[in-house]
Amino acid sequence: MSDNIERIKCLIIGSGPAGYTAAIYAARADMKPVMYTGMQMGGQLTTTTEVDNFPGYPNGTDGTAMMDDLKNQAERFGTEVRFGLITAVDFSKEAGGIHKVTLDGSKIIEAETVIISTGATAKYLGLESEERLKGGGVSACATCDGFFYKGQDVVVVGAGDTAAEEATYLANICSTVTMLVRRDEMRASKAMQHRVAKTENIKVMYNTEVDEVLGEQVVDGVRVFNNQSGEKQDLTATGLFVAIGHKPNTDIFNGVLDMDDTGYLITEGKTTKTNIPGVFAAGDVQDKEYRQAITAAGTGCMAALDAERYLGALK
Ligand code: NDP
Repeated sequence: MSDNIERIKCLIIGSGPAGYTAAIYAARADMKPVMYTGMQMGGQLTTTTEVDNFPGYPNGTDGTAMMDDLKNQAERFGTEVRFGLITAVDFSKEAGGIHKVTLDGSKIIEAETVIISTGATAKYLGLESEERLKGGGVSACATCDGFFYKGQDVVVVGAGDTAAEEATYLANICSTVTMLVRRDEMRASKAMQHRVAKTENIKVMYNTEVDEVLGEQVVDGVRVFNNQSGEKQDLTATGLFVAIGHKPNTDIFNGVLDMDDTGYLITEGKTTKTNIPGVFAAGDVQDKEYRQAITAAGTGCMAALDAERYLGALK
């Protein structure tokens, strides 16, 4: 076999809670898993602040620290964690077939089973001014970039738990935070809405959307409009944090794996089986309903068990 081709039993693509949990179970089942982490090692939780709702942490924990713990646990049982990006897949349609996966455009991995846990990526509004000012004041990650806006005025777009969490995080650093909510109510959980309401320097503007991000090289304001009255208004701000949800990372599986109309992978019944034998999906890449670290971890465990049973049934 060429140096550029490696044969393994279990390939895990993606390093969020789903991937690491799959790795812990697969390694303990002696499947010698190899994980490719993707570009954002540790996944979305590494961009969050406190994780207060993962069972077992009575005082909450830091997202990055939690992912480090999961990585160490996966490695303790022999998972090989490698930094790299899968760029193409060639899955066998036969039960027991070998799945070929291309790494960083060159090396080929041949795997008996594949667990896909590639997660989801933050969405942007799609405005030209937003695109132009990415890195110049437009961000989708308050915990990554919030520090740069110390004592300044910022705007957060979105009304889900992420937006509420980002707004409260930024309120600790920034002078003022304006939250733009496109409907007349927020989608965020009541607990998060309560936190927003009791944070004095957060102002919420309902029925309000972004018309344009203002500024040439860096953001110096946000033009917003009221979607009921049409009235426009310029807000002074040096940062715009976009927190409007996520897109599943499934582009490389287009035309290969069954997906719904928004790109989430479809799994069979209560299992993690995709339409290809030996290929399983876990975490946010196949879940647009719950999208929690704990549910992702749960499906990661299921994927490893499904993969183990699949290999067992081939013997
Ligand atoms: P959501 O899909 O829950 O919310 C997206 C928000 O963005 C919605 O309020 C939506 O508005 C708004 N939105 C979408 N498109 C636009 C647009 N073009 N302009 C303006 N607003 C827009 O995504 P989240 O990332 O907030 O949360 C994802 C999941 O993760 C949820 O299940 C959430 O509960 C969970 N989560 C949990 C956390 C925790 O428990 N600590 C922290 C963060 C997330 P509308 O409501 O009108 O559709």
